[in-house]
Amino acid sequence: MPESSFPTLRITREDLVPQGAFAVAQAQYLRPDRRTVDDLAKLCRDRSIGVVAHFYMDAELQGVLTACDWPHIQIADSLKMADAAVKMAEAGMKTIVVLGVDFMSENVRAVLDAAGHEAVEVYRVAEAEIGCSLAESAEKPAYTQWLEEAGRTPRALHVVYINTSLQTKAKAHSLVPTITCTSSNVVQTILQADAQIDGVEVFYGPDTYMGHNLQTMFAQFTQLSDDAIRAIHPAHDRASIAALLDRFHPFEHGACVVHHMFGGDVVRRVKEEHAGAFHTAHLEVPGEMFELAVKAQSEGRGVVGSTSNILGFIADKVAASLGTPERERLSFVLGTEAGMVTAIVKKVQDQLRAAHDDTVEVEIVFPVASEAIAQAPESGLEIIPGVASGEGCSVAGGCATCPYMKMNHLDALFDVLETVGTDAERGLSGFRPKKYTATIAGRTAADLGSEPILHMRHFQKHGVLPDALVQDVLTR
Ligand code: SF4
Repeated sequence: MPESSFPTLRITREDLVPQGAFAVAQAQYLRPDRRTVDDLAKLCRDRSIGVVAHFYMDAELQGVLTACDWPHIQIADSLKMADAAVKMAEAGMKTIVVLGVDFMSENVRAVLDAAGHEAVEVYRVAEAEIGCSLAESAEKPAYTQWLEEAGRTPRALHVVYINTSLQTKAKAHSLVPTITCTSSNVVQTILQADAQIDGVEVFYGPDTYMGHNLQTMFAQFTQLSDDAIRAIHPAHDRASIAALLDRFHPFEHGACVVHHMFGGDVVRRVKEEHAGAFHTAHLEVPGEMFELAVKAQSEGRGVVGSTSNILGFIADKVAASLGTPERERLSFVLGTEAGMVTAIVKKVQDQLRAAHDDTVEVEIVFPVASEAIAQAPESGLEIIPGVASGEGCSVAGGCATCPYMKMNHLDALFDVLETVGTDAERGLSGFRPKKYTATIAGRTAADLGSEPILHMRHFQKHGVLPDALVQDVLTR
């Protein structure tokens, strides 16, 4: 098999074989220091602390969290993070520490409050704001103008990606009825809205790549048979999807800096060097990378969707190969943030160990430009992912690590854990998610901004949009 010009990580039952400096750095953190892991577990256990972290945390942090045997640690996508926090609160955790960007901790806070766990503390691990380029694009005047236009459109529903602040959600909801979505549920949310609200005009934002990818996906649905479409959503067929496409309006000026980096050159090399691999892509990635994965998906060689969908796809392919007598290498191009690799390693090795399988090995290909790697002698590693400017991304194409997520540091996590339950805990007030006490349309931004999240949770639980939201769309 020819060597990849991209970094790769081969995962076997008991070993990790990195190729390329980026992968070497990732792999080193996947074997964390045992004492650090034990200290973390003890602090959490002694102080009844749960930890929820996004899949995009850096490899060092995820390596330690994954090796920790405390059951109230969960690494997940943004939707499952809040669910996990509620379960931890129900199990008696008094504090939840959130490792992610600020909209994630705000989401966890809102969902805990709605579930009656107002007394459970929520902390981030930085006093500074942990922003997100995508969330910021929804705070610009262009987004407000677009929403005002939506507000003037009869039967408008704003489907807002969860990667936005509570303030944005509140302001949006005051202008046009709004429901939150994640990459795991966006397709079903839109299809269900169309099924429940005749002639609904769907305004989707702020992620432009995801908006265009959804358009591409719906257009592809119109090429399927009615039966195949009904398997995706029972209320739909070719005609209804075609009609929905005319009423689907993505916002045109919002992008995540990470997914923007899967540029044309990276895609060309993926096609040349890894045509036979499985291709995965997050719904947020730009067109070319997305189209590659969509094509692969239609041939059973790929998946597009959320981080959880990507992890599930890899696990399914591994499960299908277990027990084969001959050696087999399953190769996956990882079209999302590189932080996912920790969860992938854990999942794959758990599967191989449970099956006592030594014949299957998994290769993860990071479509990363070499310019996206910085020298960092003080770190003890020869290089770290991310360019030297500190931005963590390279215009050369494809660093695939989020500079905002990397504001969560292992040291800072320990500082917070060691402070919880001591007299110094008062000093953590700046680590709480923002309160948003200013009022919008007579309600606090926290209260109004939580409503689109609760609408999403209603849909998750009952499979239908809440009546109050449907009435709002029909009558506003
Ligand atoms: S990867 Fe980073 S910049 Fe992109 S949407 Fe997520 S948090 Fe925001």
